[in-house]
Amino acid sequence: MADQPVTSGTTGEQAGPTQGGPAPAVDQQALDEVVRFTSELIRIDTSNYGGGSCQERPAAEYAAARLAGAGLESTLLERTPGRANVVARIPGSDPGAPALLVHGHLDVVPAKAEDWSVPPFSGEIDDDVVWGRGAIDMKNMDAMILAVARYWSRAGLRPRRDIVIAFTADEEASAADGSGFLAEQHGALFEGCTEGISESGAFTVHDGRGRQIYPVAAGERGTAWLKLTARGRAGHGSRVNRDNAVTRLAAAVTRIGEHRWPVRLTPTVRAALTELAALYDIKADLGDPGDPQGAEGPEGLGDAVDALLAQLGPLGALVAATTRNSANPTMLEAGYKVNVIPGEAVAFVDGRYLPGGEDEFRATLDRLTGPDVDWEFAHREVALQAPVDTPTFARMRAALEEFAPEGDVVPYCMSGGTDAKQFSRLGITGYGFTPLKLPEGFDYHALFHGVDERVPIEALHFGVRVLDRFLRTA
Ligand SMILES: [Zn+2]
Repeated sequence: MADQPVTSGTTGEQAGPTQGGPAPAVDQQALDEVVRFTSELIRIDTSNYGGGSCQERPAAEYAAARLAGAGLESTLLERTPGRANVVARIPGSDPGAPALLVHGHLDVVPAKAEDWSVPPFSGEIDDDVVWGRGAIDMKNMDAMILAVARYWSRAGLRPRRDIVIAFTADEEASAADGSGFLAEQHGALFEGCTEGISESGAFTVHDGRGRQIYPVAAGERGTAWLKLTARGRAGHGSRVNRDNAVTRLAAAVTRIGEHRWPVRLTPTVRAALTELAALYDIKADLGDPGDPQGAEGPEGLGDAVDALLAQLGPLGALVAATTRNSANPTMLEAGYKVNVIPGEAVAFVDGRYLPGGEDEFRATLDRLTGPDVDWEFAHREVALQAPVDTPTFARMRAALEEFAPEGDVVPYCMSGGTDAKQFSRLGITGYGFTPLKLPEGFDYHALFHGVDERVPIEALHFGVRVLDRFLRTA
């Protein structure tokens, strides 16, 4: 059923009043359920190949049924049949407080079974790990949200703010059937939401020197996929031709690929570098925090930032991609025969720009492509910037520190994008907060869209505890 809300599940007990006193830890059932739900969601194959073939509806129905078991009524929404999204609201105890959105996508990227040690959609649980596509990105978080909501219902607990839960379709392609559709057509379901949390932050980064860092995402670079077109005079390959489209395109592509983008510190990245430098007792002159975005940085800022990134090791790698705009040529299309000069040549470039960096990005591309090559956006998504000096950020920090006292929480900016971009159209400020406590040697980023994706059970337990604490106190 396209674009028709379907109400499902009104049975089960209603959430009771807020309890006073110190918040209890989650119960054993929540710990068991997060593992089982992760496994069962993985077994529902929601591979998104793009092009609209994905079917999220079975996973959406699974999630809605788990919420119904907690007395939560949810709405299933589809723009395209089978591409279901789920939205539910848990009323908070403070009617004056703004609502908080917690969202997770239901689709996953495809997996090539022959590359894996276990079947990727088995959801196999061994001693300490749940295996399968989506274990990290992001059926783990979907399961945590469900486990927490059900725990609150059992324990008669209520969050302070209204919590709006959204499980989305189509995040791994265009979001047109998922968060884009919800933001465009069903904004009323998100009424009162000022902030949101989702992938990907609050996971353990081991620095190799015994320190554990929990980066919480407070921003995303924007996406600017570009199409370059060079035109010239078509003709015989043996003739003199100073008007060759391939030569013009190749020159522009080379200039873009070799361009060294200047360092621009957004507030989030400046905060990340400042906090990391302090943790490691590294002296770094990051210039004037009041320096407006896009203005020329202080003399030597680029060198100072690069030196600091090098000293920070794996943590430097986490921040490096977000200190600059970037543009990488990725595809070339021109010609059909070696002795024919084509009249047109086309290239594609994967560009990413910082929050506040779009004007500089455009101006730089105009200059690098020059007068003979046109460029346009083939696909474009906004950049996001979230404040790190807010009560909400402080509560995320406190929830992590309570359950991982040995860790240090720092803000960071994501180099790519998430559904938060779509929800930002509703005025919702997005944070990456999917708490996971990971052992040393567990390469979180390599498992995103990677082979043998898996999640430690201990990480899921930690996630439920932290998420419960944060969502209830936020
Ligand atoms: Zn994801």
